[in-house]
Order: sequence, then C-alpha cells, then structure tokens
Amino acid sequence: MAVAQPPTRDGFAPAVLEWFDRAGRHDLPWQRPATPYRVWISEVMLQQTQVTTVIAYFERFMARFPDVETLAAAGLDEVLRYWAGLGYYARARNLHRCAQRLVDEYAGVFPNDPAAVADLPGIGRSTAAAILSLSRGTPAAILDGNVKRVLARYFAVPGWPGRSAVARELWAYSEAVTPTQRTGDFNQAMMDLGATLCTRQPQCPRCPLQSGCQAFAEGNPGAYPGRRPKREKPLRTTTMIIIDGPEGILLERRPPTGIWAGLWSLPEATAPAEDWARAERGLEIELMDDTLPPLRHEFTHYSLTIQPVRARLLSDHGIEDADRLWYKPHTDNAPGLPAPVQRLIHQQELDHER
Ligand code: SF4
Repeated sequence: MAVAQPPTRDGFAPAVLEWFDRAGRHDLPWQRPATPYRVWISEVMLQQTQVTTVIAYFERFMARFPDVETLAAAGLDEVLRYWAGLGYYARARNLHRCAQRLVDEYAGVFPNDPAAVADLPGIGRSTAAAILSLSRGTPAAILDGNVKRVLARYFAVPGWPGRSAVARELWAYSEAVTPTQRTGDFNQAMMDLGATLCTRQPQCPRCPLQSGCQAFAEGNPGAYPGRRPKREKPLRTTTMIIIDGPEGILLERRPPTGIWAGLWSLPEATAPAEDWARAERGLEIELMDDTLPPLRHEFTHYSLTIQPVRARLLSDHGIEDADRLWYKPHTDNAPGLPAPVQRLIHQQELDHER
C-alpha cells in the first residue's frame, strides 16, 4: 500500500484549485452569470436534488422569476407550481419569504455579511457562504454534505457529522483549508469533488487530494464520515391474560385505532390480573403458578414486551358479545390475531399438551 503523507493544509487548496481548473464544472447555468440571486436559487434546489435534474427546473424558474423583486411579488401558489416535482416544499416557501425579506430589508440586494445572509429564511451558514463566495468571492468556508464527506475522509474525522462536536471539528478544518483568494472557485471545486470523485465509491486514484488523504492511507474511506447512530427504540411493556375457561380462551376485539386496530387479542390487564378481571370484566379468575416466558415484539417505533399471565376461569363465562369471544384453538376458525398473540396462544397449547 502506498504510504500517504500526513494531512497537510498548505497543499490542500492549490491541489483542489489545480484540479478545478483542469476538470471542474464551469458551465452550469447558475455560473453564467453567477449572481447572488442565481447562486442562491441553485443552492437551495441542489440541497436535495442532483445537478442533472436541477438544471431544467432552474432554467424554468429563472425564466419566470428572473430576480428577487419578481419572486417577492409573485403569489406563493405560483412559486410552488414552479417548484412542483422538486419536493420538500418548505424550501419553496422559504425562498418566497426570503425574497420578501430581501426586498423589505435590503432593497432586494443580498447583504455582504455571511452571518446576515445566514439569518434569512431557509439559508444556513454553509448556504450563506456558498452564495457570497461563489457570486462575490467572499472568503467564507462552506460545509455541505459533499464537503463534509471529503474533509471527514481527508482528516480521518471519526463520528457522525450530525453530532455538534463532529460538525465543529469539520467546520474548523473547512476554515483552515479554505483560501482567501479564489474562494468561490475553491468552494465550487470542493462541492464538485464530493459530488463526482469522493462519493460513496470514491475514485481515489483520480483524486487531487489522494497524497495527503488519511482515509486513503488507512485504506478505508468508506468508514468516513461516521453513520448516524441507530436510535434506541423505547421499550413498552404490557400484561396479557390467558383466561382458560370451559369454552376456550377469552379473546377481545381491539379498538378501531392504535396498534392491531380491529384485530382480536388476549385481554390486556391494567391492574393485578385478578382485580382487573373482577372490576373490568366481572370475572372471577385464579392465577396459575406456571407462567409463560415474556415475549418481545418489535414495532417500527418501539419494542413491546408482553408478559403473559395464565389464569383459570372460576365464574360463569357469559360475557360473549360482538367484541368478546371464547376461542378454542383446536376446533374454532382462527379470528384475525396479531402474530405475537398467536404465538402466545400456541405456547399455551403446547404447555397444555405436556
Ligand atoms: S483520496 Fe479518496 S477518500 Fe480521500 S478525498 Fe480523495 S476521493 Fe476522497
């Protein structure tokens, strides 16, 4: 394996700019001319959408809304119509609100201060820096998704960039490598590099940063940036009673909303099982000593642990109605049962047969 140089900041910008002059994209519609307004619209469109798709939308949008004033004066419905197909409509609403703020507060001209631009609707720190650097050469660093990937790999920054400590480190690297001359070209090059070379399957042999890239030296660019940690699902518990009577096991129809809506299930006890059965169902039951093990079921948003409780019916069982029935697993047709309830009943039957 080639031994890479340690990460260097000095050679970073020259290598990126040399690559940009040679291989970067210079003929995108928003680069001709690269006014703050045109760069702004393109940056917002590009936030969730590929360049090739954005080009046609951008041209159409510009033909109808050629400047801030036209956009601010248009109705929101019309702006949304021109956005239709790009998705994430909050972006179009923010564009419209932002155009109105620019007209009201800045006479339709973007301010020169990146912090003031970042304060406008729908524009964060990175987009503000992109607008001003690409259109006016303002020396401000960017950190969009593509640039995060390049920097995380080049400097081998571990961790998920959604964590503020990781983002802070990446911002610091971005500021350190961004030159004060040709900042617009450099920022455009970094975005291009992340979009075309330093991708999910990076093309390191063609990359101008390869000689100093830590991830390349480690041989594992794919490990950077770190992935979003899986969120722990909340854990809920419930008690289900298997009441065994002469006519079968008591099942109840679940409410029309919520989990397993409308399916049949074992009753869920909200108090000690004997008290619950007497107070809520008018049934006398006796708990059985031998228990079944808890059952865990995974929903998309939480995990459910079902603690089954076995009981014998002591009183009359005359509570059958449209929402309650006594079910004999061996002879009755199975009603619609959620999978874990089916498993519990099956478990109970196996136990019976032992
Ligand atoms: S060498 Fe590979 S991993 Fe490193 S910045 Fe270039 S493309 Fe990305």
